[in-house]
Amino acid sequence: MSILRFHALKQVYSHQPLPIQEHVKRSEIFGANVFNESTMRQYLTTDAFESVVDAISHGKKIDRTIADHISTGMKEWAISKGATHYTHWFQPLTGATAEKHDAFFETIGNGMAIEKFEGGQLVQQEPDASSFPSGGIRNTFEARGYTAWDPTSPAFIYGTTLCIPTVFVSYTGEALDYKTPLLRALQAVDAAAVAVCKYFDKNVKKVNASLGWEQEYFLIDSGLAMSRPDIVLTGRTLLGHAPAKGQQLDDHYFGTIPNRAMSYMRDLETECMLLGIPVKTRHNEVAPNQFELAPIYDEANLAVDHNSLLMDVMDKVAERHNFKVLFHEKPFAGVNGSGKHNNWSLGTNTGVNLLSPGKTPMSNLQFLTFFINTIKAVHDNEELLRAAIASASNDHRLGANEAPPAIISVFIGEQLTKVLEELENVTHGKLSPKEKTDLKLNVVGKIPDVLLDNTDRNRTSPFAFTGNKFEFRAVGSMANCASAMTVLNSIVAKQLLDFKQEVEQMISKKDMKKDDAIFNVLREYIKKAKPILFEGNGYSEAWEKEAKKRGLSNNKSTPEALKAKVSVQAIRLFEDLGVMNKVESEARYEIEMEEYVLRIQIEGRVLGDIARNHIVPTAVRYQNVLIENVKGLKEIYGASFKTLAKEQLNLIEDISAHIEGINSNVTKMTEERKKANALNIIEEKANAYCFIIKPLFDDIRYHCDKLELLVDDELWPLTKYRELLFTN
Ligand code: ADP
Ligand code: MG
Repeated sequence: MSILRFHALKQVYSHQPLPIQEHVKRSEIFGANVFNESTMRQYLTTDAFESVVDAISHGKKIDRTIADHISTGMKEWAISKGATHYTHWFQPLTGATAEKHDAFFETIGNGMAIEKFEGGQLVQQEPDASSFPSGGIRNTFEARGYTAWDPTSPAFIYGTTLCIPTVFVSYTGEALDYKTPLLRALQAVDAAAVAVCKYFDKNVKKVNASLGWEQEYFLIDSGLAMSRPDIVLTGRTLLGHAPAKGQQLDDHYFGTIPNRAMSYMRDLETECMLLGIPVKTRHNEVAPNQFELAPIYDEANLAVDHNSLLMDVMDKVAERHNFKVLFHEKPFAGVNGSGKHNNWSLGTNTGVNLLSPGKTPMSNLQFLTFFINTIKAVHDNEELLRAAIASASNDHRLGANEAPPAIISVFIGEQLTKVLEELENVTHGKLSPKEKTDLKLNVVGKIPDVLLDNTDRNRTSPFAFTGNKFEFRAVGSMANCASAMTVLNSIVAKQLLDFKQEVEQMISKKDMKKDDAIFNVLREYIKKAKPILFEGNGYSEAWEKEAKKRGLSNNKSTPEALKAKVSVQAIRLFEDLGVMNKVESEARYEIEMEEYVLRIQIEGRVLGDIARNHIVPTAVRYQNVLIENVKGLKEIYGASFKTLAKEQLNLIEDISAHIEGINSNVTKMTEERKKANALNIIEEKANAYCFIIKPLFDDIRYHCDKLELLVDDELWPLTKYRELLFTN
């Protein structure tokens, strides 16, 4: 075993389990580090408190003098909790969260100092924004962008810093982050859904989109992870032969959580509780050393913030446990990758889940309205939804026979399929009283409560109805949920606006009753949206063919998928809803295309380096050992050495062939990268990286992995899959 691997493993085995944590009830510490409602009541004046509540529920602007009161209360609370600094916490388009800490500390002359935090510092800040991606919105000479407080997501203390969730926008008002368009999309879906709810219940004043994400991840010993340059630099292994044992025995999924991982999870969960992240579920996932963590769902903006924060906290807690968390969608070839299911629904201020079948025919009609409109929205915008989850890392998963395919389809289960079939046959125009009664009693009225248990879990579907919510399963584990949530809520908002308009037209022009109009519009929607419904095996080749016939897109790579972000339809959709203007849509497209290129470029460089500078020299060294051996045999046995050295000679030749395979392909890859880098048009560059450079990774890897099987284990320079995946 190489020295590096030896040291890495030694560290794992000398790892001391952490002491058992003190017994605390989770409910008692939940939200202890969050400036939530109960804390606000304690630290704010009534005026200030009401002003924040108004801002949260009605988007009302907070007056400047009131902001001073709020900041003072916040500061007092934060200092009482040991905070010394504050930061505007935001989510730039780099994918990570950003923070720049400032101390409360301020000097006031004569050698004296005080702790200070004013309204202005709470409400707005101006970080040096020049190094964050802007897709050309802001050139670096005019590097001005500002962060602005988002009162809908409560401030929290992490470590010794008061973190204030903010949006990040350019001085000309364009969004430079994930949160801004998300907030706009949530407003759009709120307004559109409230308007539709009025058909069923006049008391509905607000509709919140909800999100419950399920975060999958790998937990690898940090010493072992650090011994792999590919993991350190790209978050995944670029080579490595499959271990003799992988996940074929299915012995990890839902199995006993290994002690060391458990100790990590407990520590992590305590941190989450303090930060008000309502984590609830933990279990082993399919692959060895793969796990999942899921919270109780929350309002979508808050849930997105919680997920971003969680990923950060996971990294930090992992350091204490000598673990490295891999969020990459496909860290290891040959075993399952990771995703982040986004469970989504819409809920009213009156406490109704609009995607949950009700108890009465009327509430069921409301359910069907939202259910069918969502399906129609997905149908009409499937390519945009696919684009929302596109990334270099998620490309490894989508369509790779273990995760949802790159084709977006909707699974609704047998029972609801039947309901839709019935609805598809309702009479055009006014329904007869008998038909209406029949529908209400036998179709709409019969959507059962037990649906929740009956919806079959078709794991191959990227967008599945699971009883009282839709589950968008194609989201990547590394992704910021905001991308998927912005698109989903926008397309549903747009769809609900159209729906309302069509129903109104039928009522006024065709003199229909409300119910008749709703049934008529829904019937047409079902007919139009039907091609998106699919109940079968999403991994099968037959589905690929069938989907093509149905006219559904199958964009397997990021450069192909991202185009939908700048289609005429998408740009108009976001513009009409006020979610993003054309400049913002185009900027995002450009940023993501560039990021794609950069990621593949880095992977190419790292792979080239490992293959040529680690693998080839090792292979040569082992080959020399064999050559020495052959020479020795010849010396001792003379002419008859050939029989004795037959296998060694074969090995020598095999090694040479693989070295040749590696070297020629690395040379080719480098040449192709040079050519690609010279291209100025981003589409051409991304295509070159996707279709010319990336395929060479497979060839290089093939030869490296073959050598791993041939070369003496003692000489092999890289920590192997069996160690990465089975050490815990
Ligand atoms: P699994 O998909 O792993 O079987 P569940 O479907 O039971 O798990 O729940 C997964 C996630 O769905 C949880 O995070 C849960 O909070 C979330 N969820 C449940 N109801 C809703 C809802 N109305 N809106 C959004 N998320 C929800
Ligand atoms: Mg799920």
